[in-house]
Amino acid sequence: MAIPKDARITLDPEEIPKQWYNLAADIGHLEPPLNPVTEKPAKPEDFAPIFCKPIIEQEGSTQRYINIPEEVRENLIYLNRPAPLQRAYRLEKYLKTPAKIYFKREDMSPLGSHKGNTALAQAYYNAESGIHTLTTETGAGQWGTALAMVSNLFDIDTTVFMVKGSYEQKPFRKTLMHLYGAEVYASPSEYTEFGRKILKEHPDTTGSLGIAISEACEMAVKDEHTCYSLGSVLNHVMLHQTVIGLETIEQMKKAEIKPDYMVACVGGGSNFGGFTFPMLRDKIAGKTDCEIVAVEPKAAPSLTEGKFRYDFGDTAGMTPLLMMYTLGHEFIPKGIHAGGLRYHGMSPLVSAAYEKNLIKARSYDQPQTFEAGSIFAKTEGIIPAPESCHALKAAMDIALECKEKNEEKTIVFCLSGHGLIDLYGYEQFIEGTLPSSSA
Ligand SMILES: *Cc1c(COP(=O)(O)O)cnc(C)c1O
Repeated sequence: MAIPKDARITLDPEEIPKQWYNLAADIGHLEPPLNPVTEKPAKPEDFAPIFCKPIIEQEGSTQRYINIPEEVRENLIYLNRPAPLQRAYRLEKYLKTPAKIYFKREDMSPLGSHKGNTALAQAYYNAESGIHTLTTETGAGQWGTALAMVSNLFDIDTTVFMVKGSYEQKPFRKTLMHLYGAEVYASPSEYTEFGRKILKEHPDTTGSLGIAISEACEMAVKDEHTCYSLGSVLNHVMLHQTVIGLETIEQMKKAEIKPDYMVACVGGGSNFGGFTFPMLRDKIAGKTDCEIVAVEPKAAPSLTEGKFRYDFGDTAGMTPLLMMYTLGHEFIPKGIHAGGLRYHGMSPLVSAAYEKNLIKARSYDQPQTFEAGSIFAKTEGIIPAPESCHALKAAMDIALECKEKNEEKTIVFCLSGHGLIDLYGYEQFIEGTLPSSSA
């Protein structure tokens, strides 16, 4: 049997996109971020203590396409871009579905996830702006790992505040960040004022992303050559991640694939936004009626159960107020293995798309997602990150719905990362001790 043409669709390195796509040009009215003290629309200066100028400009930009600097494009090659689009023939066979299932392979980055796409761009712009240190937060560790590595390429030091629960539960992530040369603190830490305050009030806390963001921002505010770098949520991060969706559209064109569904998991929204915004552009223009589905954990269901309102991005209330779906900035989600999905808020762009009914959302409980991951491991040989298992689970459910209706639909999902450093969760799944996240 000849190998089917759509088994694995690749692009050449020269086909890495030359421009990012900015959904802010097409989404319509967006409520602006507000200054946290005056509650008036934030000015560029309000972001200046924590972000460098080019990043602030991109954050507020409504220009549809923005050029990708050559130095960033060239380095994307070493993150294994363009990433293949692959068909899950063996999963389809296992599910006995008439649906076709494709997945975008962000797991092939040597950094383990899609996070490197924006880490590269952010490190580049900060280096150009004379910044010598970047601070950041990390939950499960993927973002800290990505930023730690790419900072080396631009001679920047990185300090990572890692949510204490993960710091203790995922020691190998810490090793990776150390290996890449970063300084890593368990958050809350003794290193910042806010960290010391939380430790005094809650000495046994396992921390949260919101607390770690507050610590990283505090450190950035105190030194003019230190900036803060965020791995998700903000518009400039969504922008940098659109290389995923732009490549996917090229690949689908090449293989004559017309998607009926595009599916991705959402924590702060960056792999989802990057993967689906270029398709959303075509949907807004009336060129496709592809259904776009965001998948979140029952433990942090900001879209399906949160409110669309202004809220802080961090726990201390230091960041500008963002108009987004939120569970409240003091919400501390249950400790699930999908640490990258444990965030109280949601990207303002993803939130606006949901509010305007342009996208749909589903939520799943932890054991269901690991079960999906274990089936993918057996059929496709790939072990998905616990976060990516959410997208996979939804894609599998849609494929089963197609089977019931005997519909030959096409489903494309984003495999945002691999789970090789999350084997403890899989071990619990195998032993039957994996806790439910919704109870
Ligand atoms: C960080 C992460 C996520 C969640 O973050 P988004 O910004 O919502 O994409 C999902 N998958 C993986 C593998 C991650 O590392």
